[in-house]
Amino acid sequence: MSSSVLFLGSGGARFVVARQFRASGGMWLRLGETQIHVDPGPGALVRALSHVPPCNPRELSAIALSHKHLDHAADSTAMIEAMTSGGFRRRGILLAPKDALEGEPTVLPYAQRFVERVDVLEAGSGPYVIGDVEMYTSIAHHHAVETYGMHFRHQGLRFSYLPCGRYFSGLAADYAAHKPDVLVINVLRLADAMNVDHLTWDDARRVVEEVSPRVAIFQHFGTKMLEADPGKLAQALEDDLGIRAIAARDGLEVDLETEVAAVAG
Ligand SMILES: [Zn+2]
Ligand SMILES: [Zn+2]
Repeated sequence: MSSSVLFLGSGGARFVVARQFRASGGMWLRLGETQIHVDPGPGALVRALSHVPPCNPRELSAIALSHKHLDHAADSTAMIEAMTSGGFRRRGILLAPKDALEGEPTVLPYAQRFVERVDVLEAGSGPYVIGDVEMYTSIAHHHAVETYGMHFRHQGLRFSYLPCGRYFSGLAADYAAHKPDVLVINVLRLADAMNVDHLTWDDARRVVEEVSPRVAIFQHFGTKMLEADPGKLAQALEDDLGIRAIAARDGLEVDLETEVAAVAG
């Protein structure tokens, strides 16, 4: 069984998501036979079902949220209903930080009871076991709400996801310690004009340089990033660093073993 990541969306930031300049359906991860939907933002269910061939929510082993913000979690209740056949078949795992589940939850409480297991994510913990996949959380990101990155391991493959948050010293070291073959990294901003809790392109570059994955995939683009042409930026980084760099687009599917093998050498 091969492993792949499908981008059901590649947009980030309020304006891009509100206008759907880029979709916001999150990542559909296939690690061997284990399927995990990460960060189902607005439109995730529709994007999953309308993809060719369709992604089947009833085959999901888990739904994982990096944090509770709407562009990462808006469709989580809809996806849980789809995964559990409207709650009639109790199955699957929900992984999310505590503040996505309690207080003002972005996963509606009734649907939290439809899954077989809820794993509350905490900083730097794991393994959280999803079938034959092990997942570890990153250190806490600096973001307005509880936010954790994810380090997946499946057989020999190491796949890490670095979600939203501001750059701080120690961020890259945590990801480097997990030695990912593939690193997906959210880069919302081209430059820091407003000092917000997101990586800029320069920050993302710095992180990639330090983590040194074989393959880096960028996504979650804001308006200025889109205007700057993420494909071009990725190409320049690839030339500079000698790693494979990919700018995600909506519907892009990356075969992980193939990409990793192509740069192993
Ligand atoms: Zn956020
Ligand atoms: Zn975000």
